[in-house]
Amino acid sequence: MLGQMQNQPLLISSLITHAERHHGSTEIVSRRVEGDIHRSTWGQIARRSRQVANALDGLQLAHGERVATLAWNGYRHLELYFGVSGTGRVLHTLNPRLHPEQLAWIVNHADDRALCFDMSFLPLVQAVHSKCPGVRHWVALCDADKLPTESGIPGLMSYETWIGGRSETYVWPELDENSASSMCYTSGTTGNPKAALYSHRSTLLHAYGAALPDALGCSARDSILPVVPMFHVNAWGLPYSAAAVGCKLVFPGPALDGKSVYELIESEKVSMAAGVPTVWQMLLGHMQQNGLKFSTLRRTVIGGSACPPTMINAFNHTYGVEVLHAWGMTEMSPLGTVCTLKSAQLALSPEAQLKVRLKQGRAVFGVDMKIVDEAGHELPWDGKAYGDLLVRGPWIITSYFKGEGGDPLRYDANGKGWFPTGDVATIDADGFMQITDRSKDVIKSGGEWISSIDVENIAMAHPAVAMAACIGMKHPKWDERPIVVVVKKPGAEVSRDELLAFYEGKTAKWQIPDDVVFVDAIPLGATGKMQKMTLRQQLKDYVLPGA
Ligand code: AMP
Repeated sequence: MLGQMQNQPLLISSLITHAERHHGSTEIVSRRVEGDIHRSTWGQIARRSRQVANALDGLQLAHGERVATLAWNGYRHLELYFGVSGTGRVLHTLNPRLHPEQLAWIVNHADDRALCFDMSFLPLVQAVHSKCPGVRHWVALCDADKLPTESGIPGLMSYETWIGGRSETYVWPELDENSASSMCYTSGTTGNPKAALYSHRSTLLHAYGAALPDALGCSARDSILPVVPMFHVNAWGLPYSAAAVGCKLVFPGPALDGKSVYELIESEKVSMAAGVPTVWQMLLGHMQQNGLKFSTLRRTVIGGSACPPTMINAFNHTYGVEVLHAWGMTEMSPLGTVCTLKSAQLALSPEAQLKVRLKQGRAVFGVDMKIVDEAGHELPWDGKAYGDLLVRGPWIITSYFKGEGGDPLRYDANGKGWFPTGDVATIDADGFMQITDRSKDVIKSGGEWISSIDVENIAMAHPAVAMAACIGMKHPKWDERPIVVVVKKPGAEVSRDELLAFYEGKTAKWQIPDDVVFVDAIPLGATGKMQKMTLRQQLKDYVLPGA
């Protein structure tokens, strides 16, 4: 017997329709690439996203064709989120921090037909457009009078001219909810980048899941600042959850430095912000130097890389801001776990609570996870056993775009497919998962594993250390030994021996790194993560002391 409920497809267009009808006057505030502050509302975003839809129909792009963006977080990008996906085309967010060659490769691999870009990326587009013959339409996200007369890009249009004068009326099509809606390429440390292809259904379910109180806890009373870029897994899905709950959105544009982010948080009464640790480091540095406090910020989502304990402490204790440590992946839309405490953990001492907050947290309903040993046997949830972390759920990929890399799933005895995350983790009895490493970053010393994250966290607790990366170096006896590569804070001093002494008593002796290498900068990838492959490459002539 079937249930007798309305069978409405879960579509991205329903999000913007809802936001307009129920939260039409709620503000969307953006810092533009020109530096000024632009004010819009959900109502305006909805009307303009329908103009985008009409403009796309005017280009005669077929359903399923890819429309790429090369843009910072801002209102026009948001209009494209709904306008492109709502019509059945696929929004492809490009990462402007990639090398131009790689960018052109991705545009061609995705078969992008149109590309909409912020004017700050004009030089990049000028460098790659001739290598992207499949792109037929180039749109600059600017007013008509900002368009350069001689760009060298054939048929370049200004966004405002393109959508201006179009009807604000559009009937969103009733698509199959499993239709593709957007795509994002993962950085992929080996081989060519691969794309996760999201569907309307996966996006809507993720929007519900992410908004839950024990996940990101979004509500109509929030003013949310996604510092995480809209080209990094759809700003962790926040634009969709924001439309579902009708909160205010605040977009930082290209200004991600501590001063600009702080000013926006204060002026727009931001209650929740989301970003990677490197961004928060810049913000905290600015606040410490200038003796500042937050007046409205209540919580901050930190994910993308492990959040060091010093950062959790600074937010929690110095600034009274709750840290939501979150973990996920491009292949997971991206949310997997969020570290919100249960009543039992809230009753613990501050020190014991910090240990829990360092973990990546509990699975959001919709995500199932397990850890397995090398033979694929499930390991216990005791907080000690560690193994490969596998996940499954309706917003996790089954395969990559165009089937690249074959079938990525691992099948259990019941034939259920699990996605191998490439992370190594523990899970405790309360379901709190903790990443110990990327499987390729784990250091194996004398048959025992050393967590590079643990080694980095200790270094980061030293007041003179701005950034630390732990990598394994070949060792004739132990196979590998850890070293820590350190960037010092400006004007701060610490010697190799002082830093090594700092490890004493904080970890087992054999887990203390063998050496400290001071550098001016640690290479960061396109999404702000430390690039350990590049770092290993840079240190290829390094020899361990005594090796
Ligand atoms: P990406 O798909 O580029 O977002 O990268 C996903 C990977 O980032 C994960 O598989 C983890 O290795 C890492 N990652 C994401 N969030 C965290 C976190 N909170 N702690 C540690 N690693 C993380």
